[in-house]
Amino acid sequence: MQYKVNIGLEVHIELNTKNKMFCRCKSSFGDKENTNVCPVCLAQPGALPIPNKEAIALAIKTGIATNCKIDKKVIFDRKNYFYKDLPKGYQITQFFNPICKDGYINIPNKKINIRQIHIEEDAGKVCKNNTIDYNRAGVPLLELVTMPDFESDEEVIQFLKALKEILIFCNVSDCKIQEGSMRVDINLSVRKENMPLGNRVEIKNVGSFKSIKNAINYEIKRHINLLENNNNINVETRKFDENNNKTIFMRNKETIKDYSYFKEPDILNINLSNNFIFNIKNNMPILPEEKRKLYAKNYNLSENDIKAILYSPKINNLFEELNNKINNPKEIANIISGELFKICNENKININNLTFNINYISNIINLFLNNKISRDTYKNVFFEIIINDVEPISFIEKNNLYLLNDTNFIESKIINILKENTKSINDYKNGKEKALKFLIGQCMKYFKGKCDSNIIKDIILKHINY
Ligand SMILES: [Zn+2]
Repeated sequence: MQYKVNIGLEVHIELNTKNKMFCRCKSSFGDKENTNVCPVCLAQPGALPIPNKEAIALAIKTGIATNCKIDKKVIFDRKNYFYKDLPKGYQITQFFNPICKDGYINIPNKKINIRQIHIEEDAGKVCKNNTIDYNRAGVPLLELVTMPDFESDEEVIQFLKALKEILIFCNVSDCKIQEGSMRVDINLSVRKENMPLGNRVEIKNVGSFKSIKNAINYEIKRHINLLENNNNINVETRKFDENNNKTIFMRNKETIKDYSYFKEPDILNINLSNNFIFNIKNNMPILPEEKRKLYAKNYNLSENDIKAILYSPKINNLFEELNNKINNPKEIANIISGELFKICNENKININNLTFNINYISNIINLFLNNKISRDTYKNVFFEIIINDVEPISFIEKNNLYLLNDTNFIESKIINILKENTKSINDYKNGKEKALKFLIGQCMKYFKGKCDSNIIKDIILKHINY
């Protein structure tokens, strides 16, 4: 029997606004418990919510980046439920009128439709010792709901990566799953081929891409097993147990009626002006998907180089700024994808935490491109710039690292070195490739990196073959 899988996602995204959604408390992660609170987010009687304009703008930005229609009328609703981390006894959300509708994101070979994106506020957090931290209560969230278009774990991960990239490049959210600023609920159903959609199970708040993959595959197997044995699949909410790599029952699914939604009476409807939306549209960054096409077409860069220079907005800025100065995309992509990533990996540095002087980097690239320094010097000084913030020009002058440009001098010195290494020359002539490398190495040592290894190689070969 063939089975079909349908998966839809609900993704909660914490917006990186300065303030909370309905008060002016600071919205930040990791502060001391209950320091970012006020009468509004603690639900003191009489305190009234005022919507955060910045958050509304970020929601619209996200909607534009994901090809949604934007509703100019912003209306908030109440979702009523009781839980100790929810001081008001309800959450303000957008149930009847989401701000963004009917969008999509492209993943390889497929378009994933987005049903809606709406604005809501986060709840507080129950701490390990069972106290409650209300710093998170009222932090602005977007909830993005997809259609059940996914048919595999790979498609889900491709989508989440694309979404994360968009949100980070639009500066909407930092999307740190481990800090909870991106949280993913999975809705999954399995059916026999040609049958209508099966009963849906929700897996709540899965904490990493790896767990999302594992939770989906576990759940698909569990459903197929139930169907094979003619058992019913219960509509329920489950959670993923990372230690045992399986999903476990949490609760029966709440129905819409359980929340008795109604329009939030404390907030008036907001009518956005055309100008407000137009301004956001006008200031949209070029999205990574578009950049990928431009880089391949205009700069003829490899897939690997493009991946490196789109690693994060910071690295992408570095690339663009250097290219504005030097106009050699190939060499700049090369030093980023090759050297910069290597230096960061070897020294266990988070590339996004790097600080560097762009002028120093452009100077060293220029010196290399103008044949003033050898490739070895180029790499060594680049390392010094990144790790020790070394100013390259004076460093090269002080250490006398400019390339030798007197070819007669270079050649005469190489001939001397060859005379002292006749054994290696014979070894090379007898087919030992390594002997040539040894000879080049001897010369490099002599010239202290101030002569290009390719020039040395050419001169050696000229004299050996002679
Ligand atoms: Zn507050």
